[in-house]
Amino acid sequence: MHNFNYHRAADVADAAAKLAATDDPKLLAGGMTLLPTLKNRLAAPSDLIDLAAIAGLKGISVEGKEVVVRAMTPHAVVATSADVQKALPALAQLAGNIGDPAVRHRGTIGGSVANSDPAADYPAACVGLDATIVTNQRKIAADDFFQGLFETALGHGEIITEVRFQIPDRAQYMKFRHPASGYAVVGVMVAQYGSKARVAVTGAGPCVFRVAEMEAALEKSFTPASVANIKVSAEQLMGDIHCSAEYRAHLITVYARRAVEAMVG
Ligand SMILES: Cc1cc2nc3c(=O)[nH]c(=O)nc-3n(C[C@H](O)[C@H](O)[C@H](O)COP(=O)(O)OP(=O)(O)OC[C@H]3O[C@@H](n4cnc5c(N)ncnc54)[C@H](O)[C@@H]3O)c2cc1C
Repeated sequence: MHNFNYHRAADVADAAAKLAATDDPKLLAGGMTLLPTLKNRLAAPSDLIDLAAIAGLKGISVEGKEVVVRAMTPHAVVATSADVQKALPALAQLAGNIGDPAVRHRGTIGGSVANSDPAADYPAACVGLDATIVTNQRKIAADDFFQGLFETALGHGEIITEVRFQIPDRAQYMKFRHPASGYAVVGVMVAQYGSKARVAVTGAGPCVFRVAEMEAALEKSFTPASVANIKVSAEQLMGDIHCSAEYRAHLITVYARRAVEAMVG
């Protein structure tokens, strides 16, 4: 690990000021991704700005038709929140299946979303549940936020403060869990909003994406059979040591069908 200066921000304005005042800073949330990256010398920021002491960045609320999760809320808190379990059980279930207990108690929604790991679960929740990512500067629709492999719409000096999920009529997340890490080999979030459907896939491409053909089919008939024969092209998908792009394409259909099955009972 290279040397760095450590700062503990008192509030979001203080964190923003420290970001602006240092050469090559990085925000520190749960450290679950950032610290291994530093230890492996894959990044060498001049300064780490820790968000852990900012009370206003922690907690969950249900506001009208939205579940609001503040950026420094750990996955375990989302998973066990009675409010989330009641208003948006698919989100609680998704958070409860991230990694292992240590990761769930340290890792935060803000860190996960900012990182945009191609195999992370929260991006599927953000896009599938029509979320808005709120930063200290603006509001960004999840559809516009995730832009590629570890790439987001976040600009320099931008800090995620909360994620606002639209509560659907019903939703279900299904993933083929990597047996060691828990990351999604493929994960599919299906949600129904009145006559509209959203299908968001993580784990398969460079970043989360929607499957328009499945959404259109579900909007005509919300049944497992509607998606059971829709194939996603393997051309843009990832193939790696875990499985081929073709197998991932197959899993998308299987997990979308299973999600709809679970929703319609
Ligand atoms: C062994 C292991 C297993 C895992 N399994 C899974 C899994 O099954 N599913 C899954 O989805 N994830 C998994 N993760 C990832 C984990 O859940 C964390 O979400 C992820 O590591 C990042 O969250 P963090 O809070 O630790 O962020 P950090 O590591 O502290 O930060 C990550 C990045 O986000 C930036 N950042 C942090 N907070 C903000 C903010 N508020 N605004 C702007 N930028 C910010 C940081 O500067 C850094 O670049 C796993 C991680 C490990 C180590």
